[in-house]
Amino acid sequence: MVYTIRPRKGFKLSSIISFVVILSVLITIFISTIIGYKTERKSLFNNTIEMNGIAASNLSKTTESLVLSMQNSLQVTADYFSDIELSDENVLSQLDFFMGTSPYFNSLTIVNSSGVIVSTSPNNLNLIGSKPDSEATIDALKLKKASISKPFKAITGRLIVLVSNPIFDREGNYKGFVGGSIYLQQANIFRDILGVQSSTANGSYFYVVDSAGNLIYHPDKERISENVSGNPVVQKLMHGLSGAQRIINSQDQNFLAGFATVPAAGWGIVSQTPQDHIADLSENVIQEMVKFSAPFVLLLVIISFWLSRMLAQPLNRLANYASRLSVEGENVKPLTMDASWNYEANQLVDTVAVAFNKLRQQKEELHAEANTDALTGLTNRRTMGAITNLWKQQGTPFSVILMDLDHFKSVNDRYGHHMGDEVLKFVASVMLLEKGAEDYCCRFGGEEFTMLLPHASEGEAVQVAERIRLRIEQSVTPIGESVTMSLGVATFPDVSEEVFELFKYADEALYQAKRDGRNRTVAYSSLMHMARI
Ligand code: GH3
Ligand code: MG
Ligand code: MG
Repeated sequence: MVYTIRPRKGFKLSSIISFVVILSVLITIFISTIIGYKTERKSLFNNTIEMNGIAASNLSKTTESLVLSMQNSLQVTADYFSDIELSDENVLSQLDFFMGTSPYFNSLTIVNSSGVIVSTSPNNLNLIGSKPDSEATIDALKLKKASISKPFKAITGRLIVLVSNPIFDREGNYKGFVGGSIYLQQANIFRDILGVQSSTANGSYFYVVDSAGNLIYHPDKERISENVSGNPVVQKLMHGLSGAQRIINSQDQNFLAGFATVPAAGWGIVSQTPQDHIADLSENVIQEMVKFSAPFVLLLVIISFWLSRMLAQPLNRLANYASRLSVEGENVKPLTMDASWNYEANQLVDTVAVAFNKLRQQKEELHAEANTDALTGLTNRRTMGAITNLWKQQGTPFSVILMDLDHFKSVNDRYGHHMGDEVLKFVASVMLLEKGAEDYCCRFGGEEFTMLLPHASEGEAVQVAERIRLRIEQSVTPIGESVTMSLGVATFPDVSEEVFELFKYADEALYQAKRDGRNRTVAYSSLMHMARI
């Protein structure tokens, strides 16, 4: 009965170990990256809010002192003109002098108590003699004290903020005011101070609102004078509060904003960063992390491959060895393996090696038993068939000697079967003595033997046959007397190119020897010769 076992494949141990190690490495990296990303994002978020708070507060201080300097400078100008007749023709050049020494305003204007412009610097506006009707001018004339206007459209069509200071004479009579204009949509003092600071790499920028929530300064000029009092941060500023927080603007964008008031002007400054920028920055950090860790991951993967191979190698070799053992006809050497550095692998290999070597030994014994004759130790008939077939395939010429003991039945009869066996063993030993190095001795069955002689001619084979016959005849066998044998010789491919026919002819020769009186050798070619005669 033949059992067929379906080969079961499965994954290699080294692949499984590698897979598990690499998977755990990747999961660890993935988790640490996510945590890194979240931590980074949170700290960037908090830092940005804080930085914007600090920036707004710093700028508010700068702007505060700027506004105070502006007012101070106008005060000085107003004081100067307190003694001078405003209609004097020198006023123009004197105002030019103040304009030249003050960096704050885009233009200076003197308006008399009747609201008529008496002087401007620079005097390229052709405004002298005109009477501006803007709320800011009217308010300045009415209030008769230092003030800062809301943004408004001047008669020139420009969007401006007017900073004014009253002019009183020595007696305290109101003469009018000196006004400093800041052109909001052109190069101005705010743009000089805030514009530079707004060009930060993380997309942050500043804007300034007045006490009514109108934009006085914004990097986007188009938005200047727009009322943004709906913005939660601007509302806080309008209530005189400073701080930092996250806001969503009217365009649904998230910002991290810091804000601070400028008390001298009633303005507020907002410094803000788009939140998307934080995400971009965090992603950059992740990219950096990935770039940084990539070589280590690669190294880890290589090490894990190597390690898993090393761990699996002894078992792998055991498995290979075991599969070779099960292959029919393969000549497997004893299992020897170097010690591994893995304790379990060593234990397993040692134990399995003992079992495998035992198995191998048994296999070899079985193989030998299957090929040799148990009684005499000679090659058996099955193996002999294989040898002759091989020689035929290879085209190797050979001779065969067929031998049969004479009257062997009577040996058995007289001395018993056991003694008969002893005689057979003795005959085998004589054959082995006479055979050549490449020749095979074989027990053909019962008390019949053959000898295969590669490359031997019929004549040479007959010589060997005769030597055996004579030696047997002249020996004292285990039964205390000599025996004789008859021998037939045939040669391949001389007499036949078929192995079975060759044996048939050798057998014919052997029986001719029996017929001729036994104890002799007959070559098949001589039978043919005789037949021809
Ligand atoms: P001859 O060949 O000269 O014609 O006479 P023979 O008596 O030898 O006749 P044959 O070859 O036909 O007889 C074979 C005998 O050999 C029969 C059997 O008793 C004996 N024999 C065969 N095999 C064995 C064996 O394995 N052991 C023993 N002891 N005897 C065997
Ligand atoms: Mg016989
Ligand atoms: Mg016989």
